[in-house]
Amino acid sequence: MPIPRRYTTEAIVLSRFDFGEADRILTLITPGAGKIKVIAKGIRRPTSRIGGSLEPFAELQVALARGRTFEVVTQVVVEHAWLNLRDSLESAATAWYLAELADRSLEERTAAEPLYTLLRRAYGLLDAGMAPGRVARWYEMHLADELGVRPEVDRCVECDRMLEPTETFRWVPALGGVLCEKHPAPPSFRVDLSLEALKLLKAYQRMDAEALAGLRLNDAVEREVEAALREFVRHVLERDPRSLAFLDEVRVARPV
Ligand SMILES: [Zn+2]
Repeated sequence: MPIPRRYTTEAIVLSRFDFGEADRILTLITPGAGKIKVIAKGIRRPTSRIGGSLEPFAELQVALARGRTFEVVTQVVVEHAWLNLRDSLESAATAWYLAELADRSLEERTAAEPLYTLLRRAYGLLDAGMAPGRVARWYEMHLADELGVRPEVDRCVECDRMLEPTETFRWVPALGGVLCEKHPAPPSFRVDLSLEALKLLKAYQRMDAEALAGLRLNDAVEREVEAALREFVRHVLERDPRSLAFLDEVRVARPV
């Protein structure tokens, strides 16, 4: 079906940069059209009607007109502002990280309803006060699912044998998950995965977000799973997300 000349869609801002004297170019995720680039003309002028509303961390209703290179934004209505999410620098930095992962995962103009729903849900969870680290892990695990690369945490990726709680596990993103102790460790391999971390990885696949929010967890195990999933995401996206450096800075600066 051809895209009509003017249309309205739900959207979340993934990234943006200033362009020319007063314009801004934004990357949006939309349920039906996937990732699209749009231009907001004159948005940086004080008189702009859309200036205050075309912002990240909000679900927007955006009216667009087809342009030669980019769609042109003609109107914006804020549907969900997720204002609490902005109160903490860590949750805002996490929101940027989640947006960047979505941006990197999507081709332009390919429908992305599951990913849109996932990002919207993650922002809702951050806004509701769920620990940003747990929202990020939950999101990374579900993003991998959506991309068709669900990490294997039940069976050995090499021999397909069910993993036993008494053995040694190796986390090997390049092979897609956990490798059992019967095989020689691959060159990329760094550290064993603890049984607790393996259980937490399974929990991120199986438990709903509310249940994950309420788990009492050891910090060291959370850090282990964070490192494991980051490594997995880096492998899938073939590079380090840029927003991670900022997120790590914010967390170092966080008062304890
Ligand atoms: Zn094996």
